[in-house]
Amino acid sequence: MSATRFDAIVVGAGIAGTASAYYLRRAGLSVALVETHRPGWGASGRNPGFLWLQTKAAGLSMDFSLACRRFAETLAEAMPDYGFRPSGGVILYRDAAFEPVARAFVADRRAAGLPVDLLDRGQLLDLLPAVGPEVSGAVWNPLDAHQDTRLLVRHLARGFEDDGGLLIAPARVAAILASGSGLAGVRLDDGRALASPCVVVAAGPWANALLQPLGLHLPFKPTRFEAAETAPAPFRLGPVAAGQSLFRFFTPPGFDAAELPRQPSELIRPDLGFTEQIASLPDGSLQFGCAYEIGSDLDQATVAGQAMACSITSRNFPGIAALPVLRQWAGVVAQTPDGLPVIDAACGPQGLIVNAGHFFGNLAGAFSGKIAADLATGREPGYPVNGFALDRFGS
Ligand SMILES: Cc1cc2nc3c(=O)[nH]c(=O)nc-3n(C[C@H](O)[C@H](O)[C@H](O)COP(=O)(O)OP(=O)(O)OC[C@H]3O[C@@H](n4cnc5c(N)ncnc54)[C@H](O)[C@@H]3O)c2cc1C
Repeated sequence: MSATRFDAIVVGAGIAGTASAYYLRRAGLSVALVETHRPGWGASGRNPGFLWLQTKAAGLSMDFSLACRRFAETLAEAMPDYGFRPSGGVILYRDAAFEPVARAFVADRRAAGLPVDLLDRGQLLDLLPAVGPEVSGAVWNPLDAHQDTRLLVRHLARGFEDDGGLLIAPARVAAILASGSGLAGVRLDDGRALASPCVVVAAGPWANALLQPLGLHLPFKPTRFEAAETAPAPFRLGPVAAGQSLFRFFTPPGFDAAELPRQPSELIRPDLGFTEQIASLPDGSLQFGCAYEIGSDLDQATVAGQAMACSITSRNFPGIAALPVLRQWAGVVAQTPDGLPVIDAACGPQGLIVNAGHFFGNLAGAFSGKIAADLATGREPGYPVNGFALDRFGS
């Protein structure tokens, strides 16, 4: 493979970019993957690995998510172990005011095609013996799952390199170079030029810095999600779990998110949202959160976000309260107006492929990479991409 000329260049080594590079290389192309920091530096290396289906609304979001979930099963068979567990997931609630919300949520998701059920406390205890005495019930979805996305990115990057792909990191792409109606390649920060007729932009919430000079704009709000990790716990959580605050983010029809009760720690900074998520990692540690702030690109945990997570998670799972906290962090995610990514090979100069705007990239990132590679090589993509075109936003 020549040092500076490639069949394709992928910008960004998060889950979307490493998967794009991996599948492009597997299709036989010479590929460079360029990353400012290191693979998994962005949100892909900072999230607790949930693969939620029950947070998706009926229509394209649910249909695509189900396709991503099927893809995850085949990926888990093909890749070295990255902690994929078809664990199922629960959204639990403590307050009686959330019982009718959970009931309406079940009806809505069932109508959308998900096999969800409402569990009473006894049924929930069978699944999750660690829940605290305040928890009164939950919505259960057997299709939710868990993975270690950091490991998946590492395996994809290693597989890409072992297969002859070139990872260039740390190196930032400063500009995409146009040539007539097509592309000439990219220019790096240090002045180096890499030539290629095909550039995949998988730069997460930084994509617009590269797209805007080409006259393109991906509309999204940066959203900070916070998380924390404990030392290994003396108990394991089978299913992934979220809690009642999540219903303010994903509110079923007939309810007003603003009317749903809040816990005192959620009022420290009322502009923060919360999801009450927690999962056991393969090493026994627990990763939990996630306070979020729409419109914030601060990639550091905050006092209010961590206070909320620690106090409410300790009520859902009292056993966590005595565990040492090993780290706290945050990552920034691109939230498009419809929550769906842009996967588009026809929005700009010939050879430009956008694979960005991933809000639920744990679930969609790997599959989107396969789709991007299919688009680059002229194959029928594994999922119809019309719903992911940039022009659906009118931009
Ligand atoms: C705490 C937290 C909880 C989350 N919970 C969930 C969840 O429950 N379910 C779910 O599915 N998702 C969840 N997510 C979101 C998920 O992590 C993201 O959707 C996904 O990781 C986005 O992947 P990406 O590859 O598009 O972007 P990123 O992982 O952000 O990767 C983009 C990469 O591009 C690089 N880059 C940018 N510009 C350039 C440039 N000019 N040159 C070279 N490199 C560049 C960056 O350095 C970065 O490494 C969560 C995220 C966080 C932080």
